[in-house]
Amino acid sequence: MSTHIEYPYIPEGRTILYVDETDPMMVLAKEYGRARCLDRTMPTASVVAREGFVLGIGANGSNYHNTHECVRVARGIKTGEGYELCEGCHPKNHSEVRAIEDAWQQGHLVRGADLYLWGHWWCCRYCWDVILDAEIQQVYLLRGSEVLFNKQHPDNIVGRQFTV
Ligand SMILES: [Zn+2]
Ligand SMILES: [Zn+2]
Repeated sequence: MSTHIEYPYIPEGRTILYVDETDPMMVLAKEYGRARCLDRTMPTASVVAREGFVLGIGANGSNYHNTHECVRVARGIKTGEGYELCEGCHPKNHSEVRAIEDAWQQGHLVRGADLYLWGHWWCCRYCWDVILDAEIQQVYLLRGSEVLFNKQHPDNIVGRQFTV
């Protein structure tokens, strides 16, 4: 895996590592996402874990888009930008933040733990800020995420993430 991936955003000095779809944390994230994601277009789920022990888990999305037009769509804002302009798209609804908050709510310290994100190929600046503040050690994505979950890539599986 020597492919260089150009992330839309990654903090200075950080890297992302990859695991296969059989990785237990990735399996858990996908199944949790299948059950709990409110964002049906780009469902994502995250697991915060330490040495195989799950500390927190979260799925993305909110009910806002069920009853309101997406502000970003209405304004023609391009993908990856302006999340904070729409209540339904706000990064507080992203699974990375939800998983960390879930761990905290259960009284776990997440410092030095790892975060597994299923369903996306990069983390936004807002999520990275939370990840860095929480002192998460390593972020893992599903191998091939930059193709599978990349709307710009011709071979993506967006729209059929749970059926392929
Ligand atoms: Zn929106
Ligand atoms: Zn995010």
